[in-house]
This record gives sequence, C-alpha cells and structure tokens, in this order.
Amino acid sequence: MYIKEIEFTNFKSFGKKIKIPFFDDFTTISGPNGSGKSNIIDGILFVLGLSSSRTLRAEKLTDLIYNGDKAKKPDFAQVTIKFDNADREMPVDEEEITISRKIRETENGYYSYFYFNGKAVSLTDIHNHLAKARVTPEGYNVVMQGDVTRIITMTAGERRKIIDEIAGVAEFDNKRDRALNE
Ligand code: ATP
Ligand code: MG
Repeated sequence: MYIKEIEFTNFKSFGKKIKIPFFDDFTTISGPNGSGKSNIIDGILFVLGLSSSRTLRAEKLTDLIYNGDKAKKPDFAQVTIKFDNADREMPVDEEEITISRKIRETENGYYSYFYFNGKAVSLTDIHNHLAKARVTPEGYNVVMQGDVTRIITMTAGERRKIIDEIAGVAEFDNKRDRALNE
C-alpha cells in the first residue's frame, strides 16, 4: 500500500484545489522556504488523524483553512489521500482507498468530517482501518523533524516501546489494557 495522490482544497497555503502525485517507492519534495513542503506533511497528519501525537503546526484546527485571501476566506478545508491498495495491505477488497477529512468553520465553532471511500465515518473507524495496515498515531509511519535525534538520545526502555509499536505488539497491549479497565 502506498500513497498515490493527495488532494488539497483550501488547506493551509493551498488556496485552490491541487493534486500532488506520489510514486510507488520514493518521492522527494523540494522547493524554496515557505513554499508549502511541510504543509503537505501537515495534510497527511490531518487526514489520517495522526495529529494527536505528532504536532500539526497550527494552534487550532480552523487555522488550517487557507487565509491568504483576506477578501474571501473559505469556510472549509479538505484533504484527500488516495492509497494504492493493489497488494491488499489494507484488508478491504478495493484497488484504491481514499481517506478524506474536511473541516468546516461556522459562527460558533467548527465541524470535522472523515470519509472512508466516500462514506462518512468516525475518527475511530479511520484509526481501525489504518491500524490493519500498521499505520498508527503512535507509530513512526510519519517521522517528523527531531524524531531521529530523540530516538538516539532516549533510554533503552523507551526505545523498546517504539519497537513494540512498529512490530504491532503495542496495539494488542493497549487493547488488553482497555479491556481490563472496562
Ligand atoms: P521550509 O523550507 O522553511 O521548511 P516549507 O516549504 O516547509 O518551508 P511550509 O512551512 O510548508 O513551508 O509553509 C509555510 C507557508 O504556509 C507560510 O508562508 C505560511 O504563511 C503558509 N500558511 C500556513 N498556514 C496558512 C493558511 N492557513 N493560509 C495561507 N497560508 C498559510
Ligand atoms: Mg518545512
């Protein structure tokens, strides 16, 4: 499974609808400072609901809506990730999987919506689907700036926790703990 394409609508610096293609094996993104490279990573954290543990660079979710045009600020932002699932790494019988998130700003707050293959779902549903493909909020599917240095300087115990996450053991430990607490 790999990301084939990400589509941004009014997300951060992406004021109009844009699609960014990704390759199967390796894709690098280059550009001048402030051109929006890290905003693409923020988009990935945003859609996949991985932002609880990885820091999205925004004080509040509504700051993620494009605000570059003072005359006309859109009231929503949407990011859609299209995964190639030809290898069925995510156990859903579809060649392609799309996960999408939209936030809409209203007078008294905002609404956040998640979609899995076009169907409205909850964040928990998204997390459960992703966990089957070993993508978790605590995992290292997205390695942020500073993570590598942190791993080098952490204690053996802490490093063991990371290995548990990557190996998929931690997921079961968490489920067991939750079951025992119920
Ligand atoms: P660097 O090479 O310095 O890391 P970068 O390519 O990673 O740069 P980003 O951090 O992705 O750049 O983009 C920062 C830009 O995004 C800034 O110019 C900032 O003004 C713009 N930006 C962030 N949020 C919004 C928003 N809500 N609306 C419009 N522009 C935004
Ligand atoms: Mg950057």
